[in-house]
Amino acid sequence: MSTSSKGAARQTAFLLVALIAAIATGQWLHSQGGEISGFWKIAGDYLLVRPLQMLVIPVVFLSVCCGIASVGKPATLGRLGLGTVVLYVLSMLIAASLGAALIEWFSPGVGVSPETRDALLQQASRDFTSDATRAQRMQEAQSTGVGGAWLNILSQIVPRNPIKDMVEGSTMAAIFSAIMLGLGLAASGDRGRPALELFQSLLEGVMKVIGWILWIMPIGLFFFVTGVIAGIGLENIAKPVLGYMAVALGGLALHAFIILPIYCQVFGGGNGWKLLWNLRRVFLTAFSTSSSNATLPVTIDACIREGGCSRRATNFCVPLGATMNMDGTALYEAVVVLFLFQLVGVDLTFAEISIVVLTSVLAAIGAAGIPSAGLVTMVIVISAVNATIAGRGIEPLPIAAIGVIIGVDRIVDMSRTVVNVWGDCVVAKIMTRVAPDPS
Ligand code: ASP
Repeated sequence: MSTSSKGAARQTAFLLVALIAAIATGQWLHSQGGEISGFWKIAGDYLLVRPLQMLVIPVVFLSVCCGIASVGKPATLGRLGLGTVVLYVLSMLIAASLGAALIEWFSPGVGVSPETRDALLQQASRDFTSDATRAQRMQEAQSTGVGGAWLNILSQIVPRNPIKDMVEGSTMAAIFSAIMLGLGLAASGDRGRPALELFQSLLEGVMKVIGWILWIMPIGLFFFVTGVIAGIGLENIAKPVLGYMAVALGGLALHAFIILPIYCQVFGGGNGWKLLWNLRRVFLTAFSTSSSNATLPVTIDACIREGGCSRRATNFCVPLGATMNMDGTALYEAVVVLFLFQLVGVDLTFAEISIVVLTSVLAAIGAAGIPSAGLVTMVIVISAVNATIAGRGIEPLPIAAIGVIIGVDRIVDMSRTVVNVWGDCVVAKIMTRVAPDPS
């Protein structure tokens, strides 16, 4: 075992121990009842989330720019870009269809007694309004609808002022300006080389900093996850919501352990199960932070060091994937929306279920790689179905119904983030064949 893989194995072990200790401590704190001190989350924020987040924009910009410029050849770039986007969209479509099929098959929202349903919906509107900022973001998403969702994606792809957007933390703006600059530098030949070398050496430096941060991560993870678990009350979950959770988590597991490894194999990425095992420290990080963006520095590091992915493919596919490729979120959006319509007793037709699948993919692409982002973009899916069922004279589903699943969302968020990040790694591995590193 090389020194670097020994280091990675040790980091994984520390993360795992920290995660288990945090779940046990969090659960114990929860069982003591009373107010959970804000100390845990604040300590975790400063030791885990912020150190990772502060590197996201520099890592995205530098890695995509260097990745694109180092590939150089337009034909290879075209295959890499197109192949990556097609594989991303296809895997999200599969995930959303799987989610829809499972929730329709098990139907945990069908046949719920009117009393239970009314109690759930009343509690839902209280939970929905408990976070005023989130509720406002959802109302905004509802008023702009599906058209607004497309425009939002488009405005991030073609930013007016990419520097301003990057300062505000938009990874999409960082990706697209890095692609343009990388193409420009590659096309400039010798005259573009000094800037490229500067970026490459900056990227080396940033990756070194990431290496240091990875060592303090287990401590931060312990604090952060303890705070999260202590705040989750799982004992009072209503039965239909438990059914929803089982379908969502089961679907995510099916996609992660069966579909994606097969996907990896079928498209030439080799043994997907082995890759899954080799990248385990990425998944521990994604599970703990519920954020594809915050996990990004670890994903890049691990894909190159442990996943056998080329730097070129990783530097392009992983940042793009953290922003646009969310298999877990696509599956979850479809499951939640169909579950809520089942709960209020609306029978959707096959065409309407297809709308759910397609808009779930759109909502997943539009979701940022941060905690709870999928919860907000789900409004797009509900609005699309509401507009369709209006034609049949059926009452629209109020968006406050999302409150039904808000109480358990953190756990599902942790799990879907793992699947989101895993999907990016699979495509980076597949694309390694298209863009291998120079030997
Ligand atoms: N938390 C997810 C992620 O960062 C996004 C979501 O809320 O679905 O990948």
